[in-house]
Amino acid sequence: MSSAESSWSPGEIPNELITALEECENPLVLTHIYPDGDALGSAIAIHRLLKSSGKNPRTILTHPVPEKLAFIDHDGEAEVLTENPQLNPEDLVDAADLVVVVDTSAPDRLGLMEPAVTSSDVPRICIDHHLEGAYEYFSAIWCEPGSPATGNLIFEVFQRMGIELDRDTAESLFVALATDTGWFRHSNAGFKAYEYAARLVQLGVEADPVYNRIFQSFSHERTLSLGDLLSQSVLSEDGKILHSVFTEEIRSRRGVSMEELDGFVDSLGQVKGAEIVFLVVEIGPMRYKVSLRSHGDFSVHAIATRFGGGGHAKAAGCRLEGTEVEVVSRLLDACRDLLGESATDPATDRA
Ligand code: AMP
Ligand code: MN
Ligand code: MN
Repeated sequence: MSSAESSWSPGEIPNELITALEECENPLVLTHIYPDGDALGSAIAIHRLLKSSGKNPRTILTHPVPEKLAFIDHDGEAEVLTENPQLNPEDLVDAADLVVVVDTSAPDRLGLMEPAVTSSDVPRICIDHHLEGAYEYFSAIWCEPGSPATGNLIFEVFQRMGIELDRDTAESLFVALATDTGWFRHSNAGFKAYEYAARLVQLGVEADPVYNRIFQSFSHERTLSLGDLLSQSVLSEDGKILHSVFTEEIRSRRGVSMEELDGFVDSLGQVKGAEIVFLVVEIGPMRYKVSLRSHGDFSVHAIATRFGGGGHAKAAGCRLEGTEVEVVSRLLDACRDLLGESATDPATDRA
């Protein structure tokens, strides 16, 4: 674990960001495409903060949330753009006097909402923890790449604004923090992550049932397809690189949805000595979604950005087009380059 991550503490929240939250009346809360626990938990928590301050917030997701995470939107506040033909991105942005973006600071990660947000004069603010923040895109941004999740930054916003957290909101934020840290196992879980978790538990969150709902509730089909994925995994470069491909053939044969694949890359990466782990998931003809994980000191963010993606040093992602063989070979080349750079650069030699 890098000491930078383990010793992270929150910096100052920009005053303009707090003022914008205080002064808006009709805020529109957005997050990244294919929302995960941190995206949904953070969006729902800021939605509740705004509602309890007398505002009329709307939270719009571009895609549905994985079924197992839906419980953290206790009151069903989030609306899904792709599930409701009545929802129109331009109308939604026009009706807002503030756009609040959480858990991404890259405009293209807003998916179908992005063109409407970009072409509008409505001020936009952002709370995030990714490395590739588009700072100039927002009128106010609080981006803390060392933060374990966005959810705990929302917790800080509650504190700063003097707004009480109820149990449901605490649970949404706990899920945000727990899922982004792999249940407090990843290197982004520094002392602060445990401190936030303790405070959320004090507010009434029960960790055990939350864990069971998210991590012990998979379908048997998912387990069988994970078996296929693991049995086809490949080790290369003296065991330093581990990868596997989840094809559309496996997915349809086993009858699992894309949302159920969450967590596969973590199960794949349980091999001793594997420093770079990547999972390639076929999402369409010649189209692949890639999840990268670093179990050593290498930054897989460098690989993801090489292909137009992003994320964090230890967990990053990108999309690639081509045949399966081409895509895997380009990724392996990029991994080898990273391993090679380290071998020839004494500054990053970890021997
Ligand atoms: P995942 O492997 O999907 O769990 O993603 C790991 C991290 O990489 C998350 O922080 C994502 O936000 C980020 N990420 C994944 N895919 C992309 C992408 N195509 N572009 C930018 N960031 C991504
Ligand atoms: Mn996220
Ligand atoms: Mn996050």
